[in-house]
Amino acid sequence: MDITIDTSHSKYHVNKKGYYGHFGGAYIPEMLYPNVAELQEKYLEIMRDPAFLSAFEQLLKDYVGRPSPLYLAKRLSEKYGVDIYLKREDLNHTGAHKINNTIGQILLAKRLGKKRIIAETGAGQHGVATATVCALMGMECVVYMGSVDIQRQAPNVARMKMLGATVVPATSGSKTLKDATNEAIRDWINNPVDTHYIIGSVVGPHPYPDMVARFQSVISEEIRRQLKEKTGKSNPDYVMACVGGGSNAAGTFFHFVDEEDVRLIAVEAAGKGVHSGYSAATSQLGRMGVIHASKTLLMQTEDGQIVEPHSISAGLDYPGVGPLHAHLFETGRATFLSATDDEALEAAYELSRLEGIIPALESAHAIAKLKDLSLQPGQVVVVCLSGRGDKDMETYIKHLK
Ligand SMILES: *Cc1c(COP(=O)(O)O)cnc(C)c1O
Repeated sequence: MDITIDTSHSKYHVNKKGYYGHFGGAYIPEMLYPNVAELQEKYLEIMRDPAFLSAFEQLLKDYVGRPSPLYLAKRLSEKYGVDIYLKREDLNHTGAHKINNTIGQILLAKRLGKKRIIAETGAGQHGVATATVCALMGMECVVYMGSVDIQRQAPNVARMKMLGATVVPATSGSKTLKDATNEAIRDWINNPVDTHYIIGSVVGPHPYPDMVARFQSVISEEIRRQLKEKTGKSNPDYVMACVGGGSNAAGTFFHFVDEEDVRLIAVEAAGKGVHSGYSAATSQLGRMGVIHASKTLLMQTEDGQIVEPHSISAGLDYPGVGPLHAHLFETGRATFLSATDDEALEAAYELSRLEGIIPALESAHAIAKLKDLSLQPGQVVVVCLSGRGDKDMETYIKHLK
């Protein structure tokens, strides 16, 4: 497994100081310095250890169900006149890619001798993936969640409780994700010795963006191997993924980032329209700022207050984007597109009817932009299907025509 490949010569991956071009770093309160420094020092060394790698591989295989299939979507391909492959992260245990990262981080936490896990969650998907691995490892789990989100996402709150986690409401500010994040950071400051903080995307202080990207990089490693088997070539013409914080996209792009013949397409949520005031298209609307202890593109007001994002899909409803993606955007290495709520819904219906696959609303954003690529016959496109649509059925039924 290739999760610790040397990226020190890459123009795009993280550098030794924890930066991607202008973005990244670790803008942490001083009290957190020992925890973050410990991670910075040890993460690669632990991940390289053969015993760690084999435990990670074993769980991905027997518990998560990897490798996830790379499926040639015939009827979808016919419609666009190219070969479209879907990377089926929707078939993973718990229904999305997030489990790849939480498995990696819980193994790492054990290596660091931690006894207690904390996490923040918005829609509850990362909270469920974290509660799942804590149950698996018999570790205490505390999940911070905005009180507004607790009401909006009742089924995931129930899942976390069923799995034995404690869900703590964050009641400050807008009572959503960023407030939950603040509470989690506060908890970590108060419990620096026995607690590991599992962050759910390629965001947060260095080394989290790189660490999470590497745990998710199993996605692109498998794509290369599977594509080679199916077509004789490891590189497709395009890889596409939706971007909230950016972890499924980082995993899908990881081994292709320095392969300049592969075009990287990142799809953000345009909500009701990029300039409608109800959007989460961070690359289009954001300016440099600090969120979650990382310097990155951030949707903010003139005086630097974070703007509440909007998307029909809870997983893309994030006002920032991981520093890797900010750098891929700034350098032009990746193309950033955005799909509106309506486009995502339409794509979800289309995929369901053409392929018998009901995607997560997040993943549907990526599918929605196939129509915006100038595709040539014979080209190969790989789309990451980050999750399954069970959790979105209420929204789908409401809009079904
Ligand atoms: C959480 C989630 C996302 C968005 O998170 P990223 O870190 O951007 O990948 C996308 N798809 C699904 C199914 C999710 O659960």
